[in-house]
Amino acid sequence: CFFNMLIMFDLINYFRMKASIENILRKYQHDSTRLMDILLDIQDELGYIPEAYVPHIAELLGLSDADVEQTLSFYHFFSTRPTGKYRIYLNNSVVAYMMGRSEVAAAFEEALGIKFGQVTPDGRVGLFETSCIGMNDQEPAAIINNVIFPCLTPFRVREIVRDIKENKPVEEMINYQYGEGQNASEMVRSMVSNNIRKVGPVLDPHYKVGEALKKVISMSPEEVIEEIKKSNIRGRGGAGFPTGLKWEFCRKAHGEKKYIFCNADEGEPGTFKDRVILTELPRLLLEGMIIAGYAVGATEGILYVRYEYRYLKKYLEEILENARKKNYLGKSILGKEGFDFDIRIQFGAGAYVCGEESALIESAEGKRGEPRDRPPFPVEKGYLGMPTVVNNVETFCSVVKIILNGGEWYKSFGTEQSTGTKLLSISGDCRYPGVYEVAWGFSVNDILDMVGASKNQVQAVQVGGPSGSLIEPDEFNRILGYEDLSTGGSLIIFGHHRDLIREVVLNFTNFFIDESCGSCSTCRIVPVLLRNKIEKILNARGVEKDLDEMLEWAKLLKASRCGLGQTAGNPVVTSIKNFRHLYERMIQKNKEYDAGFDLQAAIRDGAEATGRIPIV
Ligand code: SF4
Repeated sequence: CFFNMLIMFDLINYFRMKASIENILRKYQHDSTRLMDILLDIQDELGYIPEAYVPHIAELLGLSDADVEQTLSFYHFFSTRPTGKYRIYLNNSVVAYMMGRSEVAAAFEEALGIKFGQVTPDGRVGLFETSCIGMNDQEPAAIINNVIFPCLTPFRVREIVRDIKENKPVEEMINYQYGEGQNASEMVRSMVSNNIRKVGPVLDPHYKVGEALKKVISMSPEEVIEEIKKSNIRGRGGAGFPTGLKWEFCRKAHGEKKYIFCNADEGEPGTFKDRVILTELPRLLLEGMIIAGYAVGATEGILYVRYEYRYLKKYLEEILENARKKNYLGKSILGKEGFDFDIRIQFGAGAYVCGEESALIESAEGKRGEPRDRPPFPVEKGYLGMPTVVNNVETFCSVVKIILNGGEWYKSFGTEQSTGTKLLSISGDCRYPGVYEVAWGFSVNDILDMVGASKNQVQAVQVGGPSGSLIEPDEFNRILGYEDLSTGGSLIIFGHHRDLIREVVLNFTNFFIDESCGSCSTCRIVPVLLRNKIEKILNARGVEKDLDEMLEWAKLLKASRCGLGQTAGNPVVTSIKNFRHLYERMIQKNKEYDAGFDLQAAIRDGAEATGRIPIV
């Protein structure tokens, strides 16, 4: 009888889950290109995506099982096994460790009685690691069921676990107050702080929504593009392609439909400025996308936001809804016949490589975020094979100010080759981590002064995230700009007390290993070999030749398909170039060869299992 009840319970559960999944598929009209949304919704509702339902999902979407499985297995935040009612993801970025992540992690493990990667025996709590969650200015930070918990301490962890054991809803586990600005609004209710430290023309809060749009509809699309070209603005995502030119290519490209993508997938460890714009100036960003739509003749925009910012979902959706009511979105925008444009939000599910524009498009089409071969470029053949402009959050915001004030005005900021301002996300060993808007041309020295980092206490600065450069004090007079240190905006400061090789280079290299999509053999293999060499050196078994080999091997990465692989060797290369003495201090002198193979360690498990200790 007991077993019959169990079977009955399983059957009810099975059909309940099946009905939920079918409802979700109906919501997206069985559109296979919305697979990401479908899987996100299933995971939200059931806590995981049961593998047993994959064939059913595939059948209803007209896909093969493998099509569904490849998307499902690609993203960090999708899970095919139950991950608990409370899902804790603790950030493992370098700055999190600098701010006490190890103690916080130990406190979680102790209070929950499980290790990372496990779920409590009662199935209620899952504990997992995750890459940078865009909170480097308030680390250590975790995401629990889409709620951000910044500035964690072991004490705070014990409070959270106590609340979990009392079955409290996560939304009620707020420390004592919400963050400032819109973080405290009814739709966000988040403990996250903005930490805006320096405001320039882009972050200027005295912005009137819709003014630029009203001006734009009195211009022709070609005049809008001309104004953007006049400003010389280059894409703010890091690659620096001229924005006006990109729009012009897309305008001239042939396609039934055109699309505007906003890349809000900032996943580079150390970057968090887009989070602040999405929180405080989302209308500015949307206005920039609408202007781009008008200029290139697009009818649809997709705001691709990283999974880690799902706590902003309701808020952003409400803003879009209000924009529709005001006719900033929809048909005949502001009465302009033929100007139809709408925007939808696409959330990612945790994959750094989706920051690459073609991977972002693949992901929005419901597939693995795997970069495409180019050409063709997205401006010719992008989303669903149609001409597509992909720009970054900051670029769209800057465009609005260019339209309002003119391209010449914009050129009055910055340097000749790098016009305008740049938003920086600054973190690490400094008094005032946060977001700073500065004109291009600021030197690293200026920045250290600005953020309260005493120069004689700074050992190194990582400019541009792990894919950028680790620079030493002799280079602190270099300037930020496309002509010198180009950056997507992340700067991490390291004091003299930091172990650069162990804490920074090893962490960044592991990051690239975790985030490679695995498509190119160079990107899949070389970072692992580099990591093995670093560990060998850290274990005091390195020899001089290892450094030269690392530099040679890193060159192979240039053959990779996308920027992730091409720059995955940068932490090793720039640290050997600028901090070779730190490596040399650890390598064996007067020894030309050491395989780094530790026989004792290799046989330890076997020896313990058999209880025999061989003599080696
Ligand atoms: Fe994927 Fe790396 Fe190749 Fe980029 S370089 S396509 S991330 S394997």
